[in-house]
Amino acid sequence: MSARVEAVASKALGGERISADEALVLLERADLVTLGALADLARRRLHPDRVVTYIIDRNVNYTNVCNAFCTFCAFYRPPHHDEGYVLSFETIEKKVQETYELGGNQILLQGGHNPELKIEYYEDLFRRLKTRFPDLWLHALSPPEIVHIHKVSRITIPETLERLRAAGLASLPGGGAEILVDSVRKRMMKNKASSDEWLGVMEEAHRQGLRSTATMMFGHIETRADRIEHLAKLRGLQDRTGGFTAFIGWTFQPGHTEMGGTEATTVEYLRTMAVGMGGTAATPAALLLLNPTEEECEFKLPSFTESASWDVVIDTAHPIGILSGFRLPAGPVKVGPYQALAMKRVS
Ligand code: SF4
Repeated sequence: MSARVEAVASKALGGERISADEALVLLERADLVTLGALADLARRRLHPDRVVTYIIDRNVNYTNVCNAFCTFCAFYRPPHHDEGYVLSFETIEKKVQETYELGGNQILLQGGHNPELKIEYYEDLFRRLKTRFPDLWLHALSPPEIVHIHKVSRITIPETLERLRAAGLASLPGGGAEILVDSVRKRMMKNKASSDEWLGVMEEAHRQGLRSTATMMFGHIETRADRIEHLAKLRGLQDRTGGFTAFIGWTFQPGHTEMGGTEATTVEYLRTMAVGMGGTAATPAALLLLNPTEEECEFKLPSFTESASWDVVIDTAHPIGILSGFRLPAGPVKVGPYQALAMKRVS
């Protein structure tokens, strides 16, 4: 281990907050085992009770029509394309019903920037869903969608969020962040929220009492320094609002995209997540990033409406890699007031 890496690692080991420059040293030069150990230590400091939590939800993409033209996206179809769609309210309701039947009550609702859909469409949809499913948790509309709705509806961002909240919006997914560095964004998308717009929507949402997640899509044209800049911007906002409850990172999937290229390796993914955050909302192993409190996490704990075996729970929960190293308690799942699925780490 080089002297520089050792100095930064010692700082993290001692519980000191590291700078963005120091995080870059770790990301570029520390070995994976060291990174993993430091991340795990940070997680244990934040959550010594060793409990992690999960949410069961379903992603529903209400439209694939989009005028943002991201070169990394294989999902969208431009306006007026033969394969463009907007799901009917009945179809979305059916998908929600299926989610309830599998034990979930959260829907992550996201879609393209469809120029035909103004604020009234979302208000009608949310009100209809909340009428039929009163306890549905609508985790809906990423910041770029909020910016798009504000523009096509000719209303301000605060009003957009206020009206969506009044109609049933419960929290915001952190999608559309990709890499929060505008020189990178300009090279991979034509008509999408800037870094400041993404952060501004999140700050306003947090100010209004909404909580949100944060994401990063990496392994494309960005550098490791860009990833650290992205993480530092998220940390800066988290310092101001404390409104992020989870950090989710994923690698660019090049298949069928205009951008093309190759996928980042698993090792690169693990290194980046260790520096950014390892684990889930309730278990941030943050060397650099987030520190949600248990209270902030509780709102999005999963929904099991009746006791079930742990096997059923795990089969229906997100297949998160950190399941390894955990042992499941014997007996049926006990459903708590927040319908929490908690797994005690025993190793
Ligand atoms: S905003 Fe970009 S990533 Fe999202 S659907 Fe449109 S083209 Fe795809």
